[in-house]
Amino acid sequence: MDSTSHIKRIAIFGSTGSIGTQALEVIAANPGKFSVEILTCNGNDDLLIKQALKFNPNIVVIGDEAKYIKTKEALASTDIKVFAGEKALEEVAAMDVYDVMLAAIVGYAGLKPTLNAIKAGKTIALANKETLVVAGDIVMQTAFERKVPVIPVDSEHSAIFQCLVGEMRNPIEKVILTASGGPFLGKKTNYLVNVKREHAIQHPNWNMGAKISVDSATLMNKGLEMIEAKWLFNLEPSQIQIIIHPQSIVHSMVQFEDGSIKAQMGLPNMKLPIQYALAFPIRIKNDFPRCDIKKFSVLNFDEPDYRTFRNLGLAMEALNKGGNLPCIMNAANEIAVYAFLRNRLGFLEMTDVIEKTMQKVSFLDNPSLDDYYASDGDARNYAADMIKL
Ligand code: NAD
Ligand code: MG
Repeated sequence: MDSTSHIKRIAIFGSTGSIGTQALEVIAANPGKFSVEILTCNGNDDLLIKQALKFNPNIVVIGDEAKYIKTKEALASTDIKVFAGEKALEEVAAMDVYDVMLAAIVGYAGLKPTLNAIKAGKTIALANKETLVVAGDIVMQTAFERKVPVIPVDSEHSAIFQCLVGEMRNPIEKVILTASGGPFLGKKTNYLVNVKREHAIQHPNWNMGAKISVDSATLMNKGLEMIEAKWLFNLEPSQIQIIIHPQSIVHSMVQFEDGSIKAQMGLPNMKLPIQYALAFPIRIKNDFPRCDIKKFSVLNFDEPDYRTFRNLGLAMEALNKGGNLPCIMNAANEIAVYAFLRNRLGFLEMTDVIEKTMQKVSFLDNPSLDDYYASDGDARNYAADMIKL
């Protein structure tokens, strides 16, 4: 069967989130190309039920077990199987009912289901960058052994991936990761000290991508993305450069060994990298707004402000040192962001918590998967104690 007539069976882990809901819009706009087989979320049962009734998947999983009965009853008149809890998320990821997992859970919680999907031979469309930050070596090695493609959804990594199509084995000299700079671009410490949740999250609905919004404001998102890039494209830290590009039109660039630089450009719209990852290697015609390049006669590329946005330096340290340090950094960041979102920690204090946790939790040079799980737990406990959560 040729690839154009084949319906891809999709599992969306994290279907109620910002990436998950946009993926369902892409799927709905392309009848006959995809079928939705699994939908999962943590606690938004109302939206999960609505999505299930619309897309009629094989299976839904609600992370929060307290919401199982309501979800089950709401779908009682359908054939949809309903499961609940963390273990169910992991088990369902290995089931033989789908081809491509869109890994769109936020944070460390995405690691185990994604790893299980890879072990089961599923293609991964990866939005959940934390999976690679925590255990990138094991995740990519497992994918390599199982011959499983890991296709990035993160816009910068999708851009790099698109630049590499057709380059076969031409080595990368470096990648240039672009960063918008977030809502506090140009601001200094004296301003940031007073910044609150509502300033950091410009999105009107704080449930939608709250964590990544804060990560973008602190530039930790770019730090996580450096580590994500290292694992996705097998790069040395010295091959990854961060550039502030406030217009967000150039989504990232690849420089090859002959000095040529390729860029992927377009309006900032996550639906494009989502669609590209789901449909790869096909580019599906769509009606997304087009970029009128004349409207962008100036594109700026500047050095990041490392003194103000200290998370970048911490992420570079984690990237260079490797081992379990990125895992420790990620866990401390998740706790710090959680506390910030609940007004329990100041904006700049997030970096202090991450830095101290990275100094205190034992460093391991060559961790096993169990070591990563343990390091994540230790770092969370250490950071939470510091904040008195
Ligand atoms: P979100 O908070 O909007 O959605 C997260 C989803 O994960 C929800 O469906 C939620 O129910 C589920 N979830 C959360 N915690 C869970 C848990 N403990 N167990 C099971 N499910 C859980 O997040 P998002 O903005 O869609 O981001 C998802 C991932 O994609 C993140 O890793 C983020 O860094 C990455 N990403 C997002 C964007 C974006 O534009 N939103 C862009 C690039 C990358
Ligand atoms: Mg990104």
